[in-house]
Amino acid sequence: MIVITGEKICTLEEFLPGENAYEYNNEVISSVIGIVQKDLKSRRVNVKPLNEAPVIKEGDKVIGRVIDIKYPAIALIKILKILGKKRFIASIPYGVLYVGNIKNDIIIDIRKEIAYGDIILAKVIYAGKVPVQLVTNEDDLGVIYAYCFNCNLPLKYYEENKLICENCGRIELRKVSKLYGRGDILWK
Ligand SMILES: [Zn+2]
Repeated sequence: MIVITGEKICTLEEFLPGENAYEYNNEVISSVIGIVQKDLKSRRVNVKPLNEAPVIKEGDKVIGRVIDIKYPAIALIKILKILGKKRFIASIPYGVLYVGNIKNDIIIDIRKEIAYGDIILAKVIYAGKVPVQLVTNEDDLGVIYAYCFNCNLPLKYYEENKLICENCGRIELRKVSKLYGRGDILWK
């Protein structure tokens, strides 16, 4: 059962308030949005918050959206999901991708590797504080979804590090992941 903040969970006779719950007028009320967990042994009811972020660890792969390019050296990424974890992330939202961590070659212009609005798959190399530090310098990492600058339609894979718009023919350069367009497996 999911309850919202301030919602009655049960009466005091049934259960006592545990974590994230309190007593009011002989009733047990939730203090967060979350999932009710009844502990029959202690006769307490706890609420596990829904917005509790999974802890990001070094080595985790994450899906994120490029929300800013600080030319010439930094892309700012809003992290949307940790690969392999079902829940979307509410409270560890930002990562940075330094130009030197995009791929193993020397990069002349960050704008030929990644663009505003791209969805990327990246690996966390430092999670000690927010923003976490990301890299995309492996074959499966990089841009997994991007849109045409002209048409705003999804680009298709063209060839290594190139994407094409089937509508207008525009070719755009990216550090393309080999999983480009495979959102079906990534978002699971
Ligand atoms: Zn186009």
